[in-house]
Parts: sequence; C-alpha cells; structure tokens
Amino acid sequence: MDKTNLYDLDPARMTEWVASLGEPAYRAKQIIEWLYEKDIGDADRMSNLPAEFRRSLKDRSTAVLPEVGEIVRGADGTEKILLRLAPTAKPSGKALKIECVLMPAEDRTTLCVSSQAGCALDCVFCATATMGFKRNLTCAEIIGQVIVAKRHLAKSLEEETGTRRLSNIVFMGMGEPLLNFDSLCRSLRILTGKDGMGMSPSRITVSTAGVADRLLELAEGFAVNIAISLNAPSPDLRARIMPRVSARHDLDALLEAARQVGKTRRKPVTFEYVLLAGVTDRPEQARELVKLISRIRCKVNLIPFNPFPGSDYRRPEPQEVLAFQKILWDADIPTYIRWSQGLDVRAACGQLAISSR
Ligand code: SAH
Repeated sequence: MDKTNLYDLDPARMTEWVASLGEPAYRAKQIIEWLYEKDIGDADRMSNLPAEFRRSLKDRSTAVLPEVGEIVRGADGTEKILLRLAPTAKPSGKALKIECVLMPAEDRTTLCVSSQAGCALDCVFCATATMGFKRNLTCAEIIGQVIVAKRHLAKSLEEETGTRRLSNIVFMGMGEPLLNFDSLCRSLRILTGKDGMGMSPSRITVSTAGVADRLLELAEGFAVNIAISLNAPSPDLRARIMPRVSARHDLDALLEAARQVGKTRRKPVTFEYVLLAGVTDRPEQARELVKLISRIRCKVNLIPFNPFPGSDYRRPEPQEVLAFQKILWDADIPTYIRWSQGLDVRAACGQLAISSR
C-alpha cells in the first residue's frame, strides 16, 4: 500500500484520514501543528501523540518534501531555489526538477511558486513553454516550496545574511495553476486555513493564462487575489501569442469570467500584460486594450518582456513602456509597471525553464 504524504492532506482530508485510523479529530489538528507551526514532519518527534498512534503514523504515512538543490542569488537579492522532486510511482527515468523564486522588496518578501513541472500551454513569450509538460505537482510539492523557502529565510536570519520572513506568495512560477486545480485548492486550504499556516488570502495571488471555466470556482472558494494574463488587446493577437489557451477559452469568455470574479469580491481583478516590442506595445494597442477592459473593475500590471535563450522577442524601451502606461492611466485604469526582479539569474517572469542536461 502506498504511504500517504502528510503534506498532501488539507485540513479536512487530514481529519478524514485520522478518523479512518480510528482517531478523534483533534489528532488531525495536532499533526497539522507539528507540520506547519513547528515544522516537524517526523512522527517520532510528535511528542503529544500516543506512542501507538505515532507507530501507526510511521507505518502509513511519510512527510516528504522536494530536495533542495542549488540556490542562486541575483544582484538585487532575488534567490532562485532549484528543487528535485521525489520520483513518482511511474518510473520516468530522471528525477524532475522545478524552481521557485524568493523576491525581497522593501515592504515584503514574496515567494513565486510553481504549480506544474513544465507547462502544457504554448505561450510564445514564455521560457517554461519550451520545456513541454512533465506533470502536475502534488499538493506536497507546492506546499514543499513554501516550507523550503521559509527554512531558507530562517537560516539566513540566523546566519545574519538576511533579515526577512516570508510575507506573500504568488502562483506565477512554472505551469498553469488552474490546470492543476485539485493540488492548487488543497495547497490554498493549507496556506490559508486557520488549521494550517493561517496566511491571509490577501497575501496570496493566483495567476492564470486564462482558464476561464475555473476562474469563478477559484474566486468563490478562496479570497485570494486573482491575476489574469491577458497579454493582448484582441482575439487575433492573443491567439497568435497564446495559441493553446486561446483555442480553448475565447477572449469573450475570459472577460466575462473576469467580470463575474469582480462581482464576487471587493477587490478589482488584475490583468497582466506582457509588453513585447513591436508586437503588443504599440499605442494603438493600448487604446484597444482600454476599450476592451474599461467596463471591468480592474487594474493592470504591465510586464516588460524578459528575454530568454532562443527567443526573438525584445523588451520595449522604457519610454515606450511609459507611453503605454499613460494611455491606460488617462482612461482611468490604474496601471503599474512590473520591472521584473532576478533577470541576471534567469529568475524573472517567464524565464523559468530547466534544461534536461
Ligand atoms: N501560467 C500562469 C502563471 C505563470 S506566468 C499565467 O500565465 O498567468 C506569470 C506571468 O509572467 C504571466 O502574466 C505571464 O504572462 C508572464 N510572462 C511569461 N513569460 C514572460 C516573459 N518572458 N517576460 C515577461 N513576462 C512573462
């Protein structure tokens, strides 16, 4: 029988699982406390559990996290953490690797997590797309990135090489979170649950390439911030630069979903828009974008393109970026420029890719 990885169980599942072993619900709370408050996964050390239950935990469960590989630090303090995933039951040959990125800023420290190894979408401006799709991450592998990053920050604090604690999480690493919906939801329940890590959902952002039919479900289930990678002002251009996701979810359906999401919450939705020189950054495209979204309560994050090997796209000049931003502001759409961190260590948006060496 396969052992259960404790990090795969959200609070409700933990309670069910513990009940299936004939134990009362409060045991689930105790285990969760060990895992997330005390950061201890070894059943032998869960000292407030009866010895017999600790033994049956050992027999039936594991608490496996991804293995930390190289950590690369950029000039701006961004740290890219390479992780090796434990091999799954199906032998796939090599152990898969993923990345997550820690981004320090003045008022926060954000972790960018991956939701899949590789990606099944084929957005032409994204390095992860060039890897192809390997597999969905388990909940344990998503939560694992958070735990590993927290440990790394705590160690830097101890060694006085850093002074920060994790404050925000963005699902903007490798993969499309809404195409790994079950693991996404489990991990969000652990992150935000009172019986879990207890993070405020307002400090978490889930970004999607536009899987319209899951958006509302996500918004109704979780008060997290939702970001939609719009990236183009018209169906044609969107189909050209984001072919696969556009073929499955047309722009009208996506905007309708965005409108609905806006109604379920007080916060506006965020649209992300990658600026590709000469392709999506023209003033007429800014005006087209205004028409497209002016009736949706939203804000826009402009992301100047981050280059990667093998890509012919270019980043626009700063004055083009500012001109694009001004057109949106003039139409009363709050618009911010996201100059990415971590460019020098290939840790910026759209640069995460692992070559199979
Ligand atoms: N699949 C999800 C999350 C990963 S991408 C999504 O598409 O939203 C996170 C953000 O980075 C998206 O807004 C995406 O449009 C943007 N992005 C991708 N490649 C980029 C690149 N090379 N330069 C700048 N931004 C990029």
